[in-house]
Amino acid sequence: MTDPLHMLKSVFGFDSFRAKQEAVIQHVINGGDALVLMPTGGGKSLCYQIPAIIRPGVGVVISPLISLMQDQVDALLQLGVRAAYLNSAVSWSEANFIENQFLYGELDLLYVAPERLLTERFLALMRKASLSLFAIDETHCVSQWGHDFRPEYIQLSILHEQFPDIPRIALTATADQPTRREIIEKLGLRYAQIFSTGFDRPNICYRMELKKNSKNQLLGFLENEHPNDAGIVYCMTRKKVEETAKWLSENGRLALPYHAGLDSDIRQQNQKRFLQEEGVIVVATIAFGMGIDKSNVRFVAHLGLPKSLEAYYQETGRAGRDGLGANAWMLYGYQDVVILRQMITNSDANEQRKFVEQRKLNAMLGFCETTACRRQVLLGYFGETLKNACGHCDTCLNPVESWDGTVAAQKALSCVYRTDQRFGVHYLIDVLLGKKTERIQNFHHDQISTFGIGVDLSKEQWFSVYRQLIAMGFLTVDIDGYGSLQLTHACRAVLRGDQSLKFRKDPILVNKKTKRQTKVVSTHWKNFADQALWEDLRQCRLDLAHEQNVPPYIIFHDSTLEEIIRCKPGTLKELGKISGVGEAKLRRYGMAFLEILEEHLIYQLDDS
Ligand code: ADP
Ligand code: ZN
Repeated sequence: MTDPLHMLKSVFGFDSFRAKQEAVIQHVINGGDALVLMPTGGGKSLCYQIPAIIRPGVGVVISPLISLMQDQVDALLQLGVRAAYLNSAVSWSEANFIENQFLYGELDLLYVAPERLLTERFLALMRKASLSLFAIDETHCVSQWGHDFRPEYIQLSILHEQFPDIPRIALTATADQPTRREIIEKLGLRYAQIFSTGFDRPNICYRMELKKNSKNQLLGFLENEHPNDAGIVYCMTRKKVEETAKWLSENGRLALPYHAGLDSDIRQQNQKRFLQEEGVIVVATIAFGMGIDKSNVRFVAHLGLPKSLEAYYQETGRAGRDGLGANAWMLYGYQDVVILRQMITNSDANEQRKFVEQRKLNAMLGFCETTACRRQVLLGYFGETLKNACGHCDTCLNPVESWDGTVAAQKALSCVYRTDQRFGVHYLIDVLLGKKTERIQNFHHDQISTFGIGVDLSKEQWFSVYRQLIAMGFLTVDIDGYGSLQLTHACRAVLRGDQSLKFRKDPILVNKKTKRQTKVVSTHWKNFADQALWEDLRQCRLDLAHEQNVPPYIIFHDSTLEEIIRCKPGTLKELGKISGVGEAKLRRYGMAFLEILEEHLIYQLDDS
């Protein structure tokens, strides 16, 4: 039997296993069930691919999304592994051919969509074939509380019932405990060994800015830090998606919209361009994302707030799968808090669900308003403790001051009370600042005790106070859509003076160019020769990718090209030592890349 480490080197071109990979692989090769919890980019695929190749029979991989399967199979074929997929995109005759390959054991891995796997036809086929294992990818899709719920996933318990001798490996990047318990229960994985690596994504820099003018802020961020990079911009509404994509295009970026309201052809085409071209920005609603396997997404920008930290973690997690530096950048403001609170209150969900959603939103808002290290808060939510502050999130890089806001909170809350909980934030602030507007006079609110008691703070500061009071759950926003604020029970302690409050001092936004905060991939090589080499290597990769109609990163990852530039291999043997260059790729592409290296070397010698 081939040994896993040897296979890692010869087929995948990597030197050593990452944390837990080897243990999982051994366990599954020996026939055990496993539940693998690793962050995005952690290297989950190898955990089932290597055992599937080594164990006799075909490994069946259940994967929820067509694009994801396609990408994985393309990547495996590049490595010389015998892989195929069956889903609705495969024609009848192709499917027949693949089914035969499956029956006769001519495949190492077969990817199938859950709905197809559950058909009587496919179950019968599996009974006849020889199987090495079942891998259930994106296992959190069984969770009814989760945002990726897929009903067919629940029925996957039949794998265990009908094929008790075939090892199962379930994998997910979703971290929270309730989901974990649901997976184990629904899929009958009580006896599976759990392998968890922790969920930190050290290469992602988490940052947040107060929303002022979102378009200009976004453009500034892109110009300063990602002038040529591919990335995703998430917006809350379809309209905002369209506007933002248009605005970015007018400002010289290749930006494509993606949301559920677009024609499916256009959606697919835009997704394909994002995967296959370099430097494309997709502006999207949350409809875009799961199954985006592109490894060199250098930033994920949020112009609106996700509904939970799980969603935030998953969306930002699409950045930096290749392990190189990436930014998770978000704009956040008063309106976001209001809109999300209203969305939950107004939804048709039952009370239990609303309660769960409120709690999740509270955690999200707490994360936004924190003065502590973002990474500590984020990982803390998933039950992990990070001993030291991370040193490269925004609050670590630019510590945020806090101030004692007890008195300000009392003023703000009593102003809500004195005006009968019927007014929105602009009106309340005008009362606090003692503005004699027509409306205020009509309601005789220039005669109440809170009129003019807030002149010690500016309008912006009061906005910040109200935003934080809502985020902390002292105020709710009305359900009629006018944005009036109401007190919650929690207010009493503050109004009575039994509870003191600390507020975050919002950093003053200056519209100057901010300095690059994180070491984001060196697409700009310091040395001119290296920059030219980088561009030629990327062009070569793009040409090879286009010939085969696959994304460029499937030929070689950015990190592999970077290592080539650093090491400048001169022979096939040397090139084969670079991480990510396995035997099959060396055979297929080695000469093409060596030629480019050679040309550059001569050119440099000429120059000197
Ligand atoms: P996940 O499915 O957990 O998001 P992947 O399996 O796609 O992650 O792996 C992420 C990246 O890490 C891929 O580019 C993969 O080739 C690379 N990778 C995985 N394991 C190793 C390893 N042992 N050494 C080097 N690179 C690895
Ligand atoms: Zn930090």
